[in-house]
Formats: sequence, structure tokens, C-alpha cells
Amino acid sequence: MKIFDYDDCWQRTGKWPWDYTKETSPEYKGLAPILETDKEFEDGYILIINGISYRNVFMTKDNRVPQCTYVEKLKQQSVFTSDSDVRSTDLMPGVTCPYCGAEYGDCYPDSDNFICDECGSVFSHKRAVIYKYQSYPIKKHEPIVLD
Ligand SMILES: [Zn+2]
Repeated sequence: MKIFDYDDCWQRTGKWPWDYTKETSPEYKGLAPILETDKEFEDGYILIINGISYRNVFMTKDNRVPQCTYVEKLKQQSVFTSDSDVRSTDLMPGVTCPYCGAEYGDCYPDSDNFICDECGSVFSHKRAVIYKYQSYPIKKHEPIVLD
């Protein structure tokens, strides 16, 4: 199976994977595969190709289009390509995966088993509230002037 860069499909060929036909495959438009492999895997799997972490985001299953898979580079590379420890994130505006850096926004209740849509890893998160204050003038105190 040939593996292509998902973002390159649009940026370099002006088409998404589901837009290709056998006559207008990514290679027809000049996009070279990152790699060709006989190994089998599913959508959502994390793949390390030439030392770079990718997520398999789209695998063609329709026989009318070329049978390929499309991968996207993970925002955070070091977690999957090295033995570095995974650390908790700093306080962020929204839920953020500590493994791959995927961002989910701020409307999630606390969770002990949040499964990342991007990398499939599991993490927990808790919501923290930070108070900030804004002040408005109402009445300035009149000082007593002594001469
Ligand atoms: Zn993740």
C-alpha cells in the first residue's frame, strides 16, 4: 500500500483523497508516496516513517479510487519517536493531549479516561478556574487639602 501525505494532497494537487480516480491519482498529479509497504494497519494508527510520527487519517476502501492511505504529521514528534517521558501539560485554554498535542477546546467535563481522536492515547484532565479581576471607577475620594 502506498502512503501519501494528507496535507500535500490538497496543497500540491488541489484534490482530497476521495476526489481521486484511477486516472487522477496523487501520482498522476505529481505527488510521490512517502513510502510503500506491505504491512497492514487501520485508520487512526500512529506510524513512524523515516523517524517522523504520522497518524493514518484516511485509507481508501472504495475500489473506484486508488487504494492508498493518507497520513498527517503529529504536532508533537518526540513522544512517539524517542523514549522521552510524557509530561502533564501546563494549564491550557482547552483540553490538550499530552502525547500528540491535539487540542480539543474548553467544553469538556473532567475525565479520567479521555481517548485522543488524533493518536489513540488515553489521558485524564481536570478543569481549573482562574479568577481575574477588572475594576471600574465610581467615586474618587476627595482629599482634605492643608496649606
Ligand atoms: Zn493524542
